Amino acid sequence: MDNFCKICFKRITDNSIYNLLKRKNILCGDCFSKLQAKFVSFEIGNIKGTAVYEYTDFIKELIYKFKGCYDYELKDVFLDRYLTFLKLKYHGYHIVYIPSYHIDDERRGFNHVKAIFESLKLKELPILKKKTAHKQSDQSSLGRHKINDVLEIDENISMKGKKILLVDDIMTTGSTLLTSIDLLRSKGAKTIEILVIAKTKKKKKEEY
Ligand SMILES: [Zn+2]
Repeated sequence: MDNFCKICFKRITDNSIYNLLKRKNILCGDCFSKLQAKFVSFEIGNIKGTAVYEYTDFIKELIYKFKGCYDYELKDVFLDRYLTFLKLKYHGYHIVYIPSYHIDDERRGFNHVKAIFESLKLKELPILKKKTAHKQSDQSSLGRHKINDVLEIDENISMKGKKILLVDDIMTTGSTLLTSIDLLRSKGAKTIEILVIAKTKKKKKEEY
């Protein structure tokens, strides 16, 4: 039976890598070799973070295709090969998805962050959410600097004794993550770790 690469749609002829991994074949050899995890460590707000990939043009385009072009089929390509490792690394953690701010989220019909990370099969903690938008601001796009004003934490969910894994697709300035960390800490979260697909290079020293 013919298999086609989920990224470039080329027919997959060489199954050897996947046969070895005993997994369903979803990538061609080319795309497979471009998707090499680097597990880049970083720190933000005294919290340890890991970026699965370096922010290459390939990753950038892939994420754009996934969240900008609603290519839901791509959800598995980011973590597929590293699932076993990541499941072990974050065993016992509760997962918190960074809520989305993009206007086209509703059009997309799925939360792209959740779509990527739910394969980790961690217990979900839906503790962060967007504040209900005021009528006046409904049609205006909210700038990233305004994120602090639109994120809130569910007061009814207990953080007691929970280890939190905060996840997002791309970390750019880190302001959303910082806001989320502050909110989680204010609720008494002690152990927090961050996992993102990729992190852009820092532009300015203070931009973090
Ligand atoms: Zn391919």
